Amino acid sequence: MHHSLEITTQHKPISPSLTQTKEKQMAKSPETEHPNKAFGWAAKDKSGVLSPFHFSRRDNGDNDVTVKILYCGVCHTDLHTIKNDWGFSYYPVVPGHEIVGIATKVGKNVTKFREGDRVGVGVITGSCQSCESCNQDLENYCPQMSFTYNSIGSDGTKTYGGYSESIVVDQRFVLQFPEGLPSDSGAPLLCAGITVYSPMKYYGMTEPGKHLGVAGLGGLGHVAVKIGKAFGLKVTVISSSPSKEDEAINRLGADSFLVSSDPQKMKAAIGTMDYIIDTVSAVHALFPLLGLLKVNGKLVTLGLPEKPLELPIFPLVLGRKMVGGSDIGGMKETQEMLEFCAKHNITADIELIKMDEINTAMERLAKSDVRYRFVIDVANSLSPP
Ligand code: NAP
Ligand code: ZN
Repeated sequence: MHHSLEITTQHKPISPSLTQTKEKQMAKSPETEHPNKAFGWAAKDKSGVLSPFHFSRRDNGDNDVTVKILYCGVCHTDLHTIKNDWGFSYYPVVPGHEIVGIATKVGKNVTKFREGDRVGVGVITGSCQSCESCNQDLENYCPQMSFTYNSIGSDGTKTYGGYSESIVVDQRFVLQFPEGLPSDSGAPLLCAGITVYSPMKYYGMTEPGKHLGVAGLGGLGHVAVKIGKAFGLKVTVISSSPSKEDEAINRLGADSFLVSSDPQKMKAAIGTMDYIIDTVSAVHALFPLLGLLKVNGKLVTLGLPEKPLELPIFPLVLGRKMVGGSDIGGMKETQEMLEFCAKHNITADIELIKMDEINTAMERLAKSDVRYRFVIDVANSLSPP
């Protein structure tokens, strides 16, 4: 089965409930289904081209926080979704799940936030709160989980993300944004940061002095380098872009750099790594990566290419190696990760763009030409036409 279909059935599926929503939405347009006018940029079809879009947001409920969006990071997941790479995009799609903003309204049951607080919103904005995963602070694995966009929210309507002026979110899915973190370069931590931090903790990839490989030096990868260094690891980047070597070492703090297409260097590095975090967004071979691992080594795949990867069994069996996966992180761990990054001065290296530069940014992201996360200056560049 195509792996994206598994995601769909696992995670708030698009099929039955989106069909129902589609029916509801035929009755009510995105612009009138809620009382409050909203404005953002949306992809209208699988060309993925983003353009201005008028829609609406719900009233701020008793448990809700309304967030005026300042900055929103551009994740490769946004690109996969606007292009319908996984086959479950439901247009129009307003992407964006690395949101930093200011709480402008809080409901009467909201205890964690006050108006004026700087807050974050990440990849998830709802979960059932009663399943085994939710009970373990793993809302990210809740079968009823709602994503921040292209999903069905707790109120039964379609979710629209952070490429927009504001968002209304249940307080349980809002994060306190630590004082030490800048709003712009801190925003990518809300997806890229937690996505690499969570598996490092869960799979025991934090032992100081051990050797971590990071495959793919983009948004997730460059944060993995920084977090790996903060845990005291030796970090090697495994990249398809020779031009990133100097920055990887001199700016991001990696200890060494391997070009994946250089057979000699790859050969010399066989059996040297304890762990690998694989963030590559496209279909690629796992065989060379598994070869880089020592006996008992662990490879965690985080990228979500549109087609399945081939899993070579021999190196796994003969070296007692392990391949695992991981999906963002729960709310508690995401808060913990933000504090960790604030303490260790970890932020993303960003290229700040205006809203109307997003289509060019997406074209560059598709070519791995990003250093190392685009962030949209939403508050200063989004205005209704
Ligand atoms: P990104 O910024 O585009 O980085 C991906 C990197 O992968 C590129 O910079 C490039 O690095 C490498 N790459 C791309 N195409 C390649 C190819 N054909 N062959 C070899 N290497 C290639 O993307 P991102 O935002 O970090 O996201 C990475 C992936 O993780 C995406 O698939 C995204 O959907 C997924 N994701 C998963 C989670 C999760 O919870 N598991 C969360 C967020 C994102 P080099 O130039 O160094 O080779
Ligand atoms: Zn993301």
